[in-house]
Amino acid sequence: MATWKCVKQCGACCHLDPEERPDIAEYLTPEELALYLSMVGEGGWCINYDHLRRECKIYPNRPRFCRVEPEIFLDMYGIEPEEVNDFAIECCEQQISGVYGDRSLEMVRFSREVSREW
Ligand code: SF4
Ligand code: SF4
Repeated sequence: MATWKCVKQCGACCHLDPEERPDIAEYLTPEELALYLSMVGEGGWCINYDHLRRECKIYPNRPRFCRVEPEIFLDMYGIEPEEVNDFAIECCEQQISGVYGDRSLEMVRFSREVSREW
């Protein structure tokens, strides 16, 4: 079974362009939506994303909506804990495909990492 994990140096979900996420207002509180929009920088990328290192500059303090955690997914999307794994994989695939393409190196790396059995 594929197991979700965040693949290092991916960053696809840090591309926040609201035009590509038309339904964000449905799952963010008004305060979170304001925060989200304040984080959108050049080219739709999060202002906290370090393009050189390809990682979050505020990772320990990143907002709730950046976190893949069962209680947050239940609260934000109504996803039950047992469905979080599949849902998170789908979200990453969609985001990676939209940002880098479905044949990108990032997609290859993600697919390889999540399907690896340890
Ligand atoms: S899209 Fe998925 S794998 Fe890529 S940085 Fe975001 S959480 Fe990690
Ligand atoms: S705060 Fe960090 S994890 Fe969240 S979108 Fe920005 S760079 Fe990505």
